[in-house]
Amino acid sequence: MSKLNGKIAVVTGGSSGIGLAAAKRFVEEGAYVFIVGRRQSELDRAKTEIGKNVTAVQADVANLDDLDRLYGRIRDEKGAVDIVVASAGFVERVSTQDATPAHFDKTFGINARGVYFTVQKALPLMRKGGSVVLVSSGLHLKGLPEHGTYAATKAAMRSFARTWAMELKDRGIRVNTLSPGAIDTPIIDGQFKTREEADGARAFFSSITPLGRIGRPEEMASAILFLASDDSSYSTGIDLVADGGITQV
Ligand code: NAP
Repeated sequence: MSKLNGKIAVVTGGSSGIGLAAAKRFVEEGAYVFIVGRRQSELDRAKTEIGKNVTAVQADVANLDDLDRLYGRIRDEKGAVDIVVASAGFVERVSTQDATPAHFDKTFGINARGVYFTVQKALPLMRKGGSVVLVSSGLHLKGLPEHGTYAATKAAMRSFARTWAMELKDRGIRVNTLSPGAIDTPIIDGQFKTREEADGARAFFSSITPLGRIGRPEEMASAILFLASDDSSYSTGIDLVADGGITQV
């Protein structure tokens, strides 16, 4: 049986990696999905890959006008939102000693402020039975060098989920986070100068993960589907960890 029949979903970062895998899965389960990202080329490619019941909206989650345009379009075309997945995210490796204010503002602007307003601006359209899924990171539980601002934004998401779970419970809307471990997506390549270095990081994360490998975007899509659908009807404010055990054992 389809788990998301008739549901309208927004997936920021739906043009790549974890967001794209979730968007695909949602459509397979009967949802109509709006995918959001900045690069039109990636949106076009993702739209073709998803194939049906998808609209690609070029928008920067750090730009409030873009978010207003996104939800204005959804309101005009569909009239409501049932599911918001905030997967758009950004990592720039830098030690605290070398971090600039521009680095700090960009990381918080996309990963924390962007998520906050992605959800705030969806609320007028959200229906009873809705679900918000914030893609955090297992790094919010760890102290990985050169990831200080990134980890802090992911901890902020964990906190948002707690507040929103309480604020939205009487509207029948649940809010949860997902904390992935290292997952094989382009975000890893973006942190290194060469493919070899990125593959070195993949090998390193595999070696320190109890299950002995990094995760696949499709595995995160299964976890996101659980949180987005009625399968998790008794869960709100939780952090679902899907990380091969790296933060848990
Ligand atoms: P990815 O493949 O690089 O996807 C990131 C997506 O976010 C892309 O679609 C990107 O599109 C979009 N995006 C980035 N900045 C944006 C902005 N300002 N406005 C709108 N869209 C934006 O990486 P991923 O691994 O799937 O990451 C998805 C989420 O999972 C992120 O929040 C990340 O922090 C989290 N996560 C990933 C891992 C991992 O190991 N992969 C682990 C833990 C948590 P554009 O660049 O075209 O905008």
